[in-house]
Amino acid sequence: MNTTYTARTVLVTGASSGIGRATAEAFVARGYTVVGTSRDPAAIAEENRVDGVEYIPLDLRVPASIEALPSLVGEIDILINNAGESQCGPLEDLPTATVEDLFQLNVFGPLRLTQLVLPGMRVRRYGRVVMIGSMLASFPLAYRSCYVATKAAIKGFSEAARFETSPFGVWLTTVEPGSINTGISERRTTSIADGSPYAADFTTVLSALDRRSHGGIPPRQVAETIVVAVESEHPKPLYAVGSRAPMMFTLRRLTPRTLVEKLVARGHDLSR
Ligand code: NAP
Repeated sequence: MNTTYTARTVLVTGASSGIGRATAEAFVARGYTVVGTSRDPAAIAEENRVDGVEYIPLDLRVPASIEALPSLVGEIDILINNAGESQCGPLEDLPTATVEDLFQLNVFGPLRLTQLVLPGMRVRRYGRVVMIGSMLASFPLAYRSCYVATKAAIKGFSEAARFETSPFGVWLTTVEPGSINTGISERRTTSIADGSPYAADFTTVLSALDRRSHGGIPPRQVAETIVVAVESEHPKPLYAVGSRAPMMFTLRRLTPRTLVEKLVARGHDLSR
């Protein structure tokens, strides 16, 4: 255990499963004080509870729940904006309510939470905010436009605002996971209209996503990247892990855009 960091408190949203659970576990192992959130902490399965994590309620769809968070926990030094949902559907078929709902959960909720913790971090002259984005925001994929837009949005907030907060020792950063084996694909929401002309390609992408998700890396590896980002003196704007991230980002830098677009499409069984 690394006792250097025990004085620091980490808040991990969505700590009841997947990447959030693994991240909470990684920070406990390194000696941090860890607070994890769930919509219903009492309902977290025994096998998903991590010893040493204090669980508190948070529903990012409910503004009052977000505003109440500071009264439930003391000073937060490190915020991991991890909680989120996956969504899939052709743009043409996306109900406005679905778009608004996903933006509330994946963007507006985490953004408000960040605004609530920033003043304390700024005054104490130390803070880290990690947005859990998605590699899909760097390598967009058909039928994921709404999800991609939410992940691009939180990356945009953190990439710009880091220049405001870093003079105070407060660093915002984004970690983009690729395909991670967390079971998120079983919880993904889908929107497709009856008789949609996009149905065939949409179904193809869905099954490719499921296949890739099950073959993905374990969430522990994302947690390790998050710890590296948090413990950097000057965290980089962007970290990526999974789905051969180093190769993909190198290809994106060195080859024509269309080649990478083709690779992403073919990787999901679409011929484009
Ligand atoms: P997961 O296993 O489904 O976990 C999602 C977490 O979010 C749960 O702990 C859940 O907690 C919480 N949550 C869901 N709805 C919420 C709400 N309305 N308010 C507050 N918390 C809520 O997902 P994961 O795979 O670990 O993904 C975690 C993050 O990584 C997400 O932002 C996801 O978009 C991103 N990501 C995942 C992958 C992947 O392949 N898995 C790839 C790229 C990015 P409760 O149900 O207990 O409330």
